[in-house]
Amino acid sequence: MADRSVAHLLIGGGMASASCARWLRELGAEGEILLVGREPDPPYDRPPLSKEYLRGSATREDGHYRPTSWYEEQRIDLSTRTSVMKLDAEARTATLSTKEVVAFESALLATGANVRRLNVDGGQLEGIHYLRALGNADAIREEAAGKRVVLIGGSYIGCEVAATLTQLGAQCTILMQEAVTLERGFGRRAGAFFQQRLQEHGVEVIGVDALERFEGAGDRVERVVTAAGRVLPADAVVIGAGVVPDVMLARAAGLALDEQLGGIACDERLRTSARGLWAAGDVAAYDSVIHGRRLRVEHWDVALAQGRTVARSMLGEDVVHDVVPYFFSDLADWASLEYVGPAADWDQEVVRGSFEAGEFSLWYLAGGRVGGTLSVGRSEDLQHARRLIAAGTVLDEAALARLADPASDLGSL
Ligand SMILES: Cc1cc2nc3c(=O)[nH]c(=O)nc-3n(C[C@H](O)[C@H](O)[C@H](O)COP(=O)(O)OP(=O)(O)OC[C@H]3O[C@@H](n4cnc5c(N)ncnc54)[C@H](O)[C@@H]3O)c2cc1C
Repeated sequence: MADRSVAHLLIGGGMASASCARWLRELGAEGEILLVGREPDPPYDRPPLSKEYLRGSATREDGHYRPTSWYEEQRIDLSTRTSVMKLDAEARTATLSTKEVVAFESALLATGANVRRLNVDGGQLEGIHYLRALGNADAIREEAAGKRVVLIGGSYIGCEVAATLTQLGAQCTILMQEAVTLERGFGRRAGAFFQQRLQEHGVEVIGVDALERFEGAGDRVERVVTAAGRVLPADAVVIGAGVVPDVMLARAAGLALDEQLGGIACDERLRTSARGLWAAGDVAAYDSVIHGRRLRVEHWDVALAQGRTVARSMLGEDVVHDVVPYFFSDLADWASLEYVGPAADWDQEVVRGSFEAGEFSLWYLAGGRVGGTLSVGRSEDLQHARRLIAAGTVLDEAALARLADPASDLGSL
């Protein structure tokens, strides 16, 4: 027997759930909405945790999706510090950590992702950090500002944190397996551009090497030892080794998972294998009608957009999630990037603008089709990129020449 009944149960206290709650109300949902999140804070933006918040130029509250009063005004029951422990997809009930059993008409699984932890010798030493939640950012700022910091991983977390901590007076070294930073997402050419920006500001970058172990005296980390035998002195370490979608609840509930992408398997409407249950955000692996393949992305904007799609769907609209994913990242105020895509593989890169001037878009094509576009200072190109990605237009030689000419109008492509 359920202790209470709600129309919409939103599981997870991140952007996907918050956006879903917002749109449910904006689109006229009348029924009770319960948003359950494990963390102590109301839903908040994670991007500032490696940027403004880490730097100390934004407060905790600045990052809140909405002030707490908003939830009350909107009649959204917000349960922080509460977990959904068990989900019965058939009976449509959820058991909370408070022992309360909640019956629901529809539910969103937006349990997000957890950091990928590295299992190496010395990994338990103090001073070794991961970054996912507000408390992690507080601890990093406290321990790393003005110190020698080694960042493990050359993706956007490692790069952003290195840039921010450098601004706080730290001496940062990035250690990564790739040849250049951000190479996995954006290729060598763009990666080298961002790496140069980091190096110009004093960040040391070590590529084509790997973490072997941590060493310390007593409980504290003092050195990072690499596979190639380098020994890097470290007062603190920040590991950015990717994330693992949190499918624990979904798995126990018997929902279909995408073992390859590691998320909850959804259709193009973000519906899971159980009726009345949707998924969104970092945990959702959905059939993308735009890409013609299963996709799971870990982007702030996607969590928001998918939360909205689910709200519409919960209210009975027949809606396919057909938004081209958008991503942004800032390396302090040294370089800002935006990206639409994602391109899986590409056989051609077309540059529009100038790397030297730091104002370009880079177009990733496969078989003449645009799969993704990176912009540094050319945001206006992205609307055309979105259109071309969605349409799957094959660009001929003349069109490619226009793409490469920054003065040409992309509207006619
Ligand atoms: C430091 C950092 C910087 C980032 N910067 C950028 C950026 O610049 N650009 C960009 O596009 N993206 C960025 N991202 C990624 C972006 O923040 C994520 O894609 C986004 O947070 C995903 O939102 P979500 O709601 O899917 O999941 P999450 O934010 O992970 O939220 C899920 C929440 O659900 C909770 N939860 C899990 N299971 C349960 C349960 N059973 N019961 C209750 N609660 C549960 C979790 O504790 C968590 O609070 C960044 C992420 C980090 C960590």
